Amino acid sequence: LDAPLYADVGGDVDVSFEFSPPKSEKSEETLWQSIETLCPLGPRFLSVTYGAGGSTRDRTHATVARIARETAVPAAAHLTCVEATREEIDAVAQEYWAAGVRHIVALRGDPPAGAADYAPHPGGYENAAALVAGLRRLHPFEISVAAYPECHPSSADLAGDLDNLKRKLDAGANRAITQFFFEAETFFRYRDAAAAAGITAEIVPGIMPIGSFAGVQRMAAMCRTDVPGWLVRLFEGLDDLPAARQLVAATVAAELCRKLYAGGVKQLHFYTMNKAELSYAICHLLGVRAAPRRAAAAA
Ligand code: FAD
Repeated sequence: LDAPLYADVGGDVDVSFEFSPPKSEKSEETLWQSIETLCPLGPRFLSVTYGAGGSTRDRTHATVARIARETAVPAAAHLTCVEATREEIDAVAQEYWAAGVRHIVALRGDPPAGAADYAPHPGGYENAAALVAGLRRLHPFEISVAAYPECHPSSADLAGDLDNLKRKLDAGANRAITQFFFEAETFFRYRDAAAAAGITAEIVPGIMPIGSFAGVQRMAAMCRTDVPGWLVRLFEGLDDLPAARQLVAATVAAELCRKLYAGGVKQLHFYTMNKAELSYAICHLLGVRAAPRRAAAAA
């Protein structure tokens, strides 16, 4: 873990970027500027989230289809089981296949607002493992699923959570992408526990660059991600200093990525929040650059 920050491991690390479908014309412009900025880094894929209860179904589809049409980077569409029948979900997946999209991030989704516990739709897929099996029956999609280094909030314990991850992989998922976390050790412990549970698939750390610390704290509370005291102290006093905050955020995330790399991680997935700068800066610090090979692939 002693490698210098500017380790220049770019040639050795694969990155992917996650976006949300835009809500307005203005946010669509920001999103596309971000995609154009990040594509030359030669990401493995660009993924687009699916709003709670399928609320962004059309906007997710439009964004994914545009990525597939207008960039050379593979697009990945998130898809959830919430509030839809199997037939409805299968129809969405069929539309993706027809649009040339070959990668689905298969998720159960969260309970609708106001509902305490998750209840599967009658006639719907029960959970992410069932969705993976359903997608596998349709087409040879590449399938990613979610993993939780600090346990899913509704899981009784880590062993149960890992059993669930194993079910998703056994059903045909190719890899897992993790919820965000802030300590490299959290990921390493999880990776070791997964290996001990017989999981051999790639587990890609999800990296959350901190754009708004208050926003990240809210999300962390919802998904029970630990926000360490040192991180709280680092962001103290920066609320009104956006430029300084960006510098701190880039440094913190680059340091996490560097430690992960030093521990053998070769793939990183960035939650971009539709803004390119932080993810770009972190990649740059790691040596992931718009090299001619990457730029040509993305052109
Ligand atoms: P599952 O893997 O089905 O499991 C959820 C929980 O239920 C686990 O605790 C599991 O242990 C338990 N469980 C499931 N089946 C069983 C069973 N048979 N027996 C016992 N326990 C079981 N949400 C969105 O709405 N849209 C998105 O685009 C989106 N993208 C995401 C991307 C990533 C990388 C991650 C990490 C999360 C994302 N989420 C998204 C959030 C996700 O939908 C929630 O975390 C949701 O609550 C769980 O989804 P899952 O696919 O992990 O569910």
